[in-house]
Amino acid sequence: MSAVVPLGGSGEPDARAYRALQRELVETRNRFDRQVAQLKRLNSVAPALQQVDERPTAEVFAEAVLDVLDIGFGAVWILPSQAVITGPRFACLGWAVDEERWAMAGQALDALLHTTASNRAQRITTSLADLLPGVELHDVMAGRCIGRDGAALAVVLSANTPITTGADDAPGADALEILSLLAEKCADHLDASRDWHLIRDQMDQLRESQERLELVLRGTNDGWWDWDLVTGSCIQSARWHAMLGEPYPQSTVTDSFWLDEVHPEDRPGFEALLTATLREGAATVETEVRLRERHGGHLPVLVRGIISHDVAGAPVRFAGSILDLSERKQHEQFVHQLAFYDALTDLPNRRLLLDRLQQALLAADRAHRTTAVLMIDLDRFKSLNDTHGHAAGDELLRAVAQRLRDSVRSEDTVARLGGDEFVVLLSNLDEDHERSQELAEAIGTKILHALAEPYLLSVGVTHHSASVGVAVAHSSSTTPDTALKQADVAMYEAKSAGRNLVRLFRPEMQSRVDHRSEMETRLRAAVERNQLNLMYQVQVDADGSLYGAEALMRWHPDDGEPVPPTIFIPIAEDSGLIREIGPQAFQQACRQAVAWRPFAPEGFRIAVNVSASEFMIADYVAQVVEILASTGALGSEVRLEITEANVVSDLQAAADRMNALRNHGIVFSLDDFGTGYSSLTYLRQLPVDEVKIDRSYVRRFLNDRHDEAILKAILNLCTELDIKVVAEGVETEEQWNRLVADGCTYFQGYLFGRALPPGTSPADLTSESMVALPR
Ligand code: C2E
Ligand code: CA
Ligand code: CA
Repeated sequence: MSAVVPLGGSGEPDARAYRALQRELVETRNRFDRQVAQLKRLNSVAPALQQVDERPTAEVFAEAVLDVLDIGFGAVWILPSQAVITGPRFACLGWAVDEERWAMAGQALDALLHTTASNRAQRITTSLADLLPGVELHDVMAGRCIGRDGAALAVVLSANTPITTGADDAPGADALEILSLLAEKCADHLDASRDWHLIRDQMDQLRESQERLELVLRGTNDGWWDWDLVTGSCIQSARWHAMLGEPYPQSTVTDSFWLDEVHPEDRPGFEALLTATLREGAATVETEVRLRERHGGHLPVLVRGIISHDVAGAPVRFAGSILDLSERKQHEQFVHQLAFYDALTDLPNRRLLLDRLQQALLAADRAHRTTAVLMIDLDRFKSLNDTHGHAAGDELLRAVAQRLRDSVRSEDTVARLGGDEFVVLLSNLDEDHERSQELAEAIGTKILHALAEPYLLSVGVTHHSASVGVAVAHSSSTTPDTALKQADVAMYEAKSAGRNLVRLFRPEMQSRVDHRSEMETRLRAAVERNQLNLMYQVQVDADGSLYGAEALMRWHPDDGEPVPPTIFIPIAEDSGLIREIGPQAFQQACRQAVAWRPFAPEGFRIAVNVSASEFMIADYVAQVVEILASTGALGSEVRLEITEANVVSDLQAAADRMNALRNHGIVFSLDDFGTGYSSLTYLRQLPVDEVKIDRSYVRRFLNDRHDEAILKAILNLCTELDIKVVAEGVETEEQWNRLVADGCTYFQGYLFGRALPPGTSPADLTSESMVALPR
C-alpha cells in the first residue's frame, strides 16, 4: 500500500483526494481478498500434495497452480521427467498435445531458467507459438524447484481467457511467490514419492528374494542359519533341525558354538577359517565339515555363509546354509570303491595296487629295504567257471581272497587284478636282497598251501592249486609295471613247470616270455587269416585195414618255419585263442568227413582233438551240433579225443556233455592214457568208447617189463569194459606185432603213415610200406 492520503490547505478534506483514497482502499481490499482466497485455496491444496501415493504429485500440483492462481487454463511441466501434465481446464480447449514438441519446449525453458541463479518463479516472455499454435498466451510463468537430486522445473502457462475477474491482470509478485512455493513443494513430494516408490520397490524385491531364497533352500534341502554377531542371537531353520536333531538350547551363541558342533578332526581347519572370516573381513565362507548330530554321529555338510559388515567394516551378521552331503559322500565313497576296489572280493584292484606298489617302492628306497610282488594264478579256475557257472566261480574267488588275506600281515596288500589273478604286495622286507627273496618265497609257499585246501562251495567240494610267481624289487629304478611283469613271468614259469609251484623271477625268464608273447601275436594273425590247417594221420586195425584218421593241426607261417602243435596249442590254450581254433578245426574235419564219405569204409571216423578249455565252455555241445548241421557231417563220422585234463575238474559235467553228444552219434576217445592221473575212475564213469595208449609206453614197452605190464593191464581192463584201445606212436613192425600179440586191436603211428594232407580218399593216408606188410 503505497498511497498516502493528502490533506487540503484549508484543513478541510479534499473530496478528490478522499475518492482516490476510497478507490485505493477498495483496490487494496480486493487485492487482499484475492490473496486471502488464494491462500485459502492453497491451504486446501496442501493436504492433496501430502498424499503422494494417490495421484501423481505433478497432477495435483498442476491443478493447485491453476486453482490458486485462478487462471483459465494451464499446463504444468515437470522436468527432468518431462511429464506433461495438463490441467482439466486446459484440456477442455481440446488441444492435442504433441509430446515431442512439449519436450522441446521444456528443454528450451529449462535452458532459459538455468541462466538465472534464482530458484524463484519468474515470468518468462518467450514465444511458444510453435508449441501451441493458434493460442495466444498471456503469460508464461516458470518456477524452478530444486529436488534432492538436482533441479526439476515447473512451468505454468496461463491463457488469454481467464475465467475469473482479476486474473486478467498479470500475475503479481505474490502469485509468483506462491508458484515458487508450490513448485518447491511439488519437487519435495516428487522426491519423496520417488524415494517412497524406491523403498517400496526395494521392499518388494527383498520380499521376493527372501521368498525365492526360502523356496530354493527348501527345494535344495538346505538348512540355514542367521547369526546376529552383535546380539549373539542365532536362528536355525526347521530343516537345520531336521538334519541335526532337536533345536539348540542356547539363545545366544559365540564362536564356540560352531567349534563345539564340528567334528573334532575338522575343528582346527574350521576354527582357522572362522577366525579368518570373522576377524579378517572375508566376505564368504564355503567349506565341508562334519556337524554333530543330536542323536550321536556326525553329518557331513557343505557350509556356505555370507558375512555382512557395518560401515566401519566390522562383521555384524553371519548367515548361510548347510547342505547335507551324506548322500554325496556315500556316492563318492561308492565311486571310490568302484574305482579302486574289486566289486567281487572287495580287494584293491589293479589301479590301487599300482598306486600302493609305487608308494612301497619309494618308501623301500628311502629306508633301504625291498618290496616283493607275488603274482598268484589259480589253476583250473576257468573250467570250474565254465562247468558250474559264474556264481560258483565267484564263490571260489571270494574264498581265495579271504585265504590270501589271512596268509599275510595286515600292512601287506592283497589285490585282485581280474579273473583268477591275485597279487600280494609285501612291503618293507629285508635290506638284503637274497634274504628278501627267501622270505617272499616262503610266504608264497605258505599261500600255496593255504589255497590248496579243499573249497566247500554251494556246488560241492572242489580242489584248486595255484601257481605263484615272485619278484623282489631291490633298486629304485624298478617301476610298478616292471615289478608286476616280472612276477607275472615267474608265475607263468611256475604254471608251465607243472602248477602248484612257487617260482622266483630270474632275468633269463624274460626272454622266454618275450618269445612266447611274440608267438601269440603271430598265432593270432594266423588264426585271422585261416593259416591253420588240418593234416590227417591214418589209424588201422590189426589187419592194417583203415579204421580212422586223426586230424592234427598244422601251422606253416608264410614267413618262417612250421610251428609244431606242441608249441602253439598250449599258447592258444593260454591266450584263449583255442576258442577260435577249436571250432575251426572241428569244422574243417567235418567238411573232410563229408568229402571222404564216398571212399570211407564202414565205421570210419575222423578223430578231432579237443582242448580242456574248449570242451568246458558252456555252449560246447550246441556249438558242435551246429557245426555238424552246417557242414552236413554226421555224428557217426567223427570222434572227439579228450584227455584227463578235460574232465578232471568236474567228472559229472564232462559225462553229461559227452552223453549229450553221444545222442548225436559222436563217440569219445580218452587220449594220452597212461600219463597224468590215469585214474581208472574215468574209465568207469565216462562214456568212453576208446582209449589211446600214450606213445611213451609204445616206445618203451619192448625194453621195459614194467611198462609192458601196465600196457597189458590196460588192454585187459579195456577188453573187460568193452572199450577199444588204440596204440599211438607205433613206429616199428616189432612194436606192432607185439601189440597185436598182447591183444591191442587198433594202431596209429609213423609205421602206417604220418600226418598228411587229406587227398581224395582216406586210403591215400596209408604209407606204401604198410600196404606192403604181409599180415
Ligand atoms: P596227440 O593228440 O597225442 O597227437 C599225436 C601226436 O603224435 C601228433 O603229434 C602226431 O604227429 C604224433 N605221432 C603220430 N605217430 C607218431 C609216431 O609214430 N611217432 C612219434 N614220435 N610221434 C607220432 P602232433 O601232430 O605234433 O601233435 C601234438 C599234439 O598237439 C597232439 O598230441 C595234440 O595234443 C595236439 N594237437 C594237434 N592238433 C590239435 C588240434 O587240432 N586241437 C587240439 N586241441 N590239439 C591238437
Ligand atoms: Ca590225439
Ligand atoms: Ca595222444
